Amino acid sequence: MTSLFPEFDRQTELAEVTKYERYGNIVDIQGNLFTVDLPEDEAVTQNEACFLIIEFEGERIPLKSEVIKVVRNNAYCQCFEDTLGARIGDEVRFAGMPLFAELGPGLLGSVTDGLQNPLYKPYDKCGIKLQRGVYLSTLDRDKKWSFTPSASAGDTVRAGDWLGYVPEGPIRHQIMVPFELRDEYSVKEIAPAGEYTITEIIARLEDERGEKIDVAMIQRWPIKRPLHLYYGDAARLKREFPSELMETGFRIVDAMLPVAKGGTFAIPGPFGSGKTVFQQTVARYAAVDIIIVAACGERANEAVDVLTEFPELVDPRSDRSLMERTLIICNTSSMPTAARESSLYLAITLGEYFRLMGVNAMVLADSTSRWAQALREMSARLEEIPGEEAFPVYIAPLIAALYERAGVQVHPNGTRGTLTIGGSVSPAGGNLQEPVTEATKAVVWTFLALSRELGSRRIFPAIDPRQGMSYSGYIETLREYFTSEIDPDWTKNVMKIKRAIEAGAKAADDIALMGERNVDDRTYLDFLKSNLIRDVFLVQNSFHEVDAACPLDRMGETMNVISDALDVSDARFESKEEARGYFTELTNHLFQRNFVTVDDPSYKELGRKAAEMLADSGQKADAGVES
Ligand code: ADP
Ligand code: MG
Repeated sequence: MTSLFPEFDRQTELAEVTKYERYGNIVDIQGNLFTVDLPEDEAVTQNEACFLIIEFEGERIPLKSEVIKVVRNNAYCQCFEDTLGARIGDEVRFAGMPLFAELGPGLLGSVTDGLQNPLYKPYDKCGIKLQRGVYLSTLDRDKKWSFTPSASAGDTVRAGDWLGYVPEGPIRHQIMVPFELRDEYSVKEIAPAGEYTITEIIARLEDERGEKIDVAMIQRWPIKRPLHLYYGDAARLKREFPSELMETGFRIVDAMLPVAKGGTFAIPGPFGSGKTVFQQTVARYAAVDIIIVAACGERANEAVDVLTEFPELVDPRSDRSLMERTLIICNTSSMPTAARESSLYLAITLGEYFRLMGVNAMVLADSTSRWAQALREMSARLEEIPGEEAFPVYIAPLIAALYERAGVQVHPNGTRGTLTIGGSVSPAGGNLQEPVTEATKAVVWTFLALSRELGSRRIFPAIDPRQGMSYSGYIETLREYFTSEIDPDWTKNVMKIKRAIEAGAKAADDIALMGERNVDDRTYLDFLKSNLIRDVFLVQNSFHEVDAACPLDRMGETMNVISDALDVSDARFESKEEARGYFTELTNHLFQRNFVTVDDPSYKELGRKAAEMLADSGQKADAGVES
């Protein structure tokens, strides 16, 4: 009998680490990068996990590390912990396996660091202060889960096939045939419905040669490798093009710059422009089943804020704790930069795992620049030839590889799951012409550029809607979805509003140059109309209960009103002052309406006032044309 995963317990004891037979000794150490001299004919592989064993205050402590580069008999490794106390000559033990994520029931609601050590248990609200060299498992070994089998004895199964499920939060957590298997198996035994822990055997499989495999509810996957399923060499998962909107509740995003389920987006912007508020609002309101937040905060206390605020939030769709469908991977400021690197890979691996269950999952990374900085530090210490702004030359392919793990996938049983990946980018000085932003721009389908100018005027979300600044490739690909599922006039209105925004930007330039008095009436009207679009549609207060998230039907209705407002002709007005007064009043009604729910009587009332103004002007405009 082979057990695929003999040492499930991650409670890494020194005794366990020293069981790894392959070892070497440190010949150089700089911060958390160290070089190991390998004995003759000892081979280690890139991304292999290893433990640096230091002696500190009379104790031997194993520190988790990873091989990042091998050159002849030297292994260059990064340590995920503070290396205080490490000395030349210290022993390093190689684990013979890469860094992996533990996958199984109990993931939802977890708060871990980039190595999946629990940081905090949201339900019992006790903070855990981790010591160096102590690695705990996030998944509770003692908890019993209510398992219902879906496979039966005699069934033929392959990697990733569903064997049964346990209910967890809002989903059916599917228990699957171990992902790295490549053969076909027959189910010999399957556990009857009942309560089991994650390490109890729930199925026994056997291959053609009679080799038996025991399956428990827990399994693992190396975080740096995309989660694929194979039968022999044939890929079992099919990719599909994203075809559904991933609603965020932000009008400027869902209408002007949409993101698809299974798609990718980036939100670059300078410090203070609203990246974190945007992501946290999306985490709360986005129409997905599971959210994985990878927080590498810029401010020291930002990570702590995430940890204290998130567990308090209520899921607006289910009225239950938001944590029930959220996973948080958090880098506290006391952790070395290397841990940021692993946290992003861990987040994506978890998202891929849930996608296999037919779930819509989303990874939100804030910020990917911190991740890139970790790579830059390592690259500098390795004395690699630096690329632009000292980032390693291979930064672009690494960024592309991250976002490529997003997508719509069809499981062999026909179930469709999606993983959306969104990352914020915080370039130094807010300069968008730097390698991380540019490499990100080249791969993501939706690019939401935050503008320093809008942010400093406190116009939020500070996304610059103009062409050439932000874009979404999904406007075209989701056109069919918008017109058939949401509103037949949706795309027509979006295009009309986009044109008005461009015309307004040009008008604003003219006005800045020549003064309000000297531009023609039509130009002035373009300016007023685009201000109305900004104040009524693009601006949104994430801290207001009603305004924070706008449902699609309501968004479509507002766009119809705006479309009418854009038809208002300059012939309607005697003077610029009159036009300005008119648009101020109209904007006011519609702006106020954003803060009341649709069943509030004032919603109707404000809408009626706006409609009256528009109907009125329509007549006069016509009259103006006739005369
Ligand atoms: P960044 O992460 O880009 O440094 P933050 O997300 O922390 O910036 O935002 C900075 C501040 O801007 C917030 O504290 C908040 O006051 C304001 N802000 C950003 N976005 C919004 C929004 N959508 N609605 C209201 N206020 C916002
Ligand atoms: Mg931030």
